[in-house]
Amino acid sequence: MVGDLLNIRKLSVSFPSGEGYKDAVKGLDLTLEKGEVFALVGESGSGKSATGYAIMGLLPPYAKVDGALLFSGRDLLALSKREWHQVRGRDISMIFQEPMTALNPTMKIGLQVAEMYVLRRGMGKESAFKETARILGDMGIPNPELRMKNYPHQMSGGMRQRVLIAIALASDPQLIIADEPTTALDVTVQAQIISLLKRLQRERGTTIFFITHDLSVVAEIAHRVGVIKDGILLEESKVEDLYEHPSHPYTKALLRVLPHWDRDTKTFSLPTLNAGVGGGCPFFAYCEEVIEECEVKMPPLKVLPSGKVRCWWYA
Ligand code: ADP
Ligand code: MG
Repeated sequence: MVGDLLNIRKLSVSFPSGEGYKDAVKGLDLTLEKGEVFALVGESGSGKSATGYAIMGLLPPYAKVDGALLFSGRDLLALSKREWHQVRGRDISMIFQEPMTALNPTMKIGLQVAEMYVLRRGMGKESAFKETARILGDMGIPNPELRMKNYPHQMSGGMRQRVLIAIALASDPQLIIADEPTTALDVTVQAQIISLLKRLQRERGTTIFFITHDLSVVAEIAHRVGVIKDGILLEESKVEDLYEHPSHPYTKALLRVLPHWDRDTKTFSLPTLNAGVGGGCPFFAYCEEVIEECEVKMPPLKVLPSGKVRCWWYA
């Protein structure tokens, strides 16, 4: 990582609300270094997407934006519409949460990707389609030549997200803003998309601004993390530090709802609280409420008015 790619300086974003304006982002200061994955984490409504859209120049015209966004030293907020359009086509791309709405439902996906190579790289039709097959294969889509003929609705959510990443990559951008790119996907596919993004960062040196509400996803991909609440940055740290010694009570609270972070395997697991001989409840080792029976005897599945539970406390 050599130098800064994006300096976000005192960024404020507000939207009209009632009589006046409501601040979504309040004086945000962040620096993204070249080639890193920076995760911005916060609950829904904390101003993450507003920040991403501000960097992309895609906020609605009625939004008020203040501050500076220095991209390789040039303030994006001072650009004309045309200049910003160029930056968006070439240097910065965004991947969105819902891959279905970000794709054109009436157009074959091969054409949607190939179009990017024509528009952004000035390729001829034939080489654009060749390049499309190559990148779709590279994104882990099997039989890319065949899949190019599919419409978006003929693909799974995970495959559609791969197509969107391919589109984002067509201009070979320096910065990719990934706004909750895995939130709409199931856990297995989530992991595949994360490892795909990780690979891009490693192989192409692309800087990734990874927006998420999910701290457990961040551990997998980010180098540094910013924790934001109500448009205000509450903590920023290296990913290891964030999990091993979080500083802000809010970060601690967010982490408390996650299972245990294992610094050796860099994975989440529940902390082992009890050593036992086995044969009892499968949750025995991790349980805070063990009684004598739990270690050696399997509890029955007890029917409750609201459902069922297998625990000696209820048996
Ligand atoms: P997050 O992505 O962290 O969930 P957002 O950045 O989308 O949060 O939203 C931050 C705040 O700004 C919220 O209160 C939201 O209601 C408001 N907001 C976001 N986009 C708009 C918009 N286009 N018009 C009006 N208010 C908006
Ligand atoms: Mg959002």
